[in-house]
Amino acid sequence: MARYRDALCRLCRRESEKLFLKGDRCYTDKCAVERRKYSPGQHGQRRRKFSDYALQLREKQKAKETYGVLEKQFKRYFYMADKKKGVTGSNLLQLLERRLDNVVYRLGFSSNRRQARQFVSHGHVTVNGKRVNIPSCLIRPGDVIGLKEVSKKNVFIEENISKIEHRGLPSWLEMDVKDLQGRILHNPSRDEIELPVKEQLIVELYSK
Ligand code: SF4
Repeated sequence: MARYRDALCRLCRRESEKLFLKGDRCYTDKCAVERRKYSPGQHGQRRRKFSDYALQLREKQKAKETYGVLEKQFKRYFYMADKKKGVTGSNLLQLLERRLDNVVYRLGFSSNRRQARQFVSHGHVTVNGKRVNIPSCLIRPGDVIGLKEVSKKNVFIEENISKIEHRGLPSWLEMDVKDLQGRILHNPSRDEIELPVKEQLIVELYSK
């Protein structure tokens, strides 16, 4: 299972935008984007002019980095979105939102998507009562996401659970805080996906 292993804050600095890849740290003044508001590298402080292609590429990179997906898999999501009825850009974001690791993060079981991915692949998460260890598994409306009994005592999960009530829950999800179970009410629409990405530019990039 390939994944990006380099410094995460570097990705945010590259986009000159907070992508919230590290959980709590992203909300403190330790955030690298707050401290160094320029791109990483020797020429990071140069003034840059973006071509149309560069703008499209940056939006695609932003979406990929936010969801922790590599190029090959991202392209596959695009083709799936393109085949579905409706607006391709919104379909693409909907598919990414429906990934199991993203849903675990949105429900508040993890502080960021990377941690959610680890919880899933280490077998802490259940879907409709059965253990699922594939982070890219696509969740459907009606599915119930929970934690294994023993995993509820994991110190990292316990810490996240203690903050669950203070975290906002997207309107397409429902949470039973007592039983620590989340349910998917419906597929998310574009308005319900909080993501500062111009998906139309991604569609233009892949449609060339
Ligand atoms: Fe991005 Fe979070 Fe690092 Fe800030 S702290 S640069 S938002 S990953």
